[in-house]
Amino acid sequence: MRHAGGTRLLIDVIGVQDPARVTMLQNWVEEAARATRLPSGRYPLESATVEVREIASRDPSPVPWGQTNRRDGVSVQLYVRSDATLEQLRADWTAVHEFAHLAHPYLGERGRWMAEGLASYHQNLLRARAGLLPPEDAWRRLDAGFRRGEASRATGALATLGRRRGATMRVYWAGAAYWLEMDLALRRDHGTSLPKVLDGYARCCLDGLAHVEPEAFARELDRIAGTDLFARRHRDYASMDAFPSLDASYRALGIERERDGLRFVQDDPRAVDLRHAMTASDTTE
Ligand SMILES: [Zn+2]
Repeated sequence: MRHAGGTRLLIDVIGVQDPARVTMLQNWVEEAARATRLPSGRYPLESATVEVREIASRDPSPVPWGQTNRRDGVSVQLYVRSDATLEQLRADWTAVHEFAHLAHPYLGERGRWMAEGLASYHQNLLRARAGLLPPEDAWRRLDAGFRRGEASRATGALATLGRRRGATMRVYWAGAAYWLEMDLALRRDHGTSLPKVLDGYARCCLDGLAHVEPEAFARELDRIAGTDLFARRHRDYASMDAFPSLDASYRALGIERERDGLRFVQDDPRAVDLRHAMTASDTTE
């Protein structure tokens, strides 16, 4: 059992015999979970279970599969290659992605883009905040995700895509673009941040087993932030049938795209500060 800010995480390593490897896997999971702590120092949910299982897989990824279940309680399942090293596991995004899902309630198929977008947005930035990834790598990985979303040929309004075949990249990364836009607006114009607003939501409202309509989730976040931003842009994004423009977000961050990489503008202090704030630790505990 691992505790953080009055919340607890039960880490269960199943079917692994070697005690040293069990400890290694538990430490890896704990480090990934700590990366998703909210600014007040707590995990999003009061309690959650993590199940780690080893598998033999031809998938080159050290964590070929992860998922979050919301049945009796909330649990995260992580399937780890039996030959994965600690170094490979620490460099992988899957665990942080799954733990990032614990900050939102179940949002249904219409809200899948919000749920997957939040986890995808956070899987790189939270790792940078925890020191698991250099900040510029986090931005490059986020941008690589956006490029995969832009390359998707899936058509139709974002909220109607759900689990449609061929639409995964657009659902995940258009969703991530929404959360990037929200986080930037909160930091620039409202003196707060997405992690702080999610922290407020975790304290007042989060029920990991509840099904909350995406509009209601957006309204609650607005109430906590004192804005109308989440609901207003939720409406725009839900009906969007093309990938959202990143121009305003990238301009604010001082990020420019080059052919297949990024350039980080250094002579705009506001942009540099914003960029640094978004990859710096904001946990007070
Ligand atoms: Zn996910």
